[in-house]
Amino acid sequence: MPNVEHELVDALASCKNSRCVGYKQQPVKAIRTTAEYTYIDLGGDLPGVERSTIMFGFADLADAQCEHCGEPRLVSDQTRPIYPNISGQPQDALLAIGQDSERVRDLELANAKHEAEMAQMQVAMERMIIANERLMAQLEEPARRGPGRPRKETAGE
Ligand SMILES: [Zn+2]
Repeated sequence: MPNVEHELVDALASCKNSRCVGYKQQPVKAIRTTAEYTYIDLGGDLPGVERSTIMFGFADLADAQCEHCGEPRLVSDQTRPIYPNISGQPQDALLAIGQDSERVRDLELANAKHEAEMAQMQVAMERMIIANERLMAQLEEPARRGPGRPRKETAGE
């Protein structure tokens, strides 16, 4: 059996989701559980501790949940490291890959819609030109017959 100790300690809690507002580490009270396995525990005959494990748990269960997104929070005694951006790539570049292709798809869709509208406009323009030519032909018809000729009489006159 390992030797187990519980201690109330100061620790840091944070949301698991790096895009959540609760991702920033906050000081909380935690219970540190240390389990020590001696050589004798593990079947040996040397004195002393062969290995030990340390676990952290929230002292107050109200701290265990992220207040922003409701996900379970992490608790640790270590400050999260901040690494310098050596690559020059934004940290969320991988997340943005899908959005880029989505944006391109949206643009292509908008372009296709625009082209379809243009094609419809062209058809409408051609129809208008044909209608215009017919109207002009009808207007020119009496002129070809020459002046002085009486207009077509309607039934009412
Ligand atoms: Zn969260």
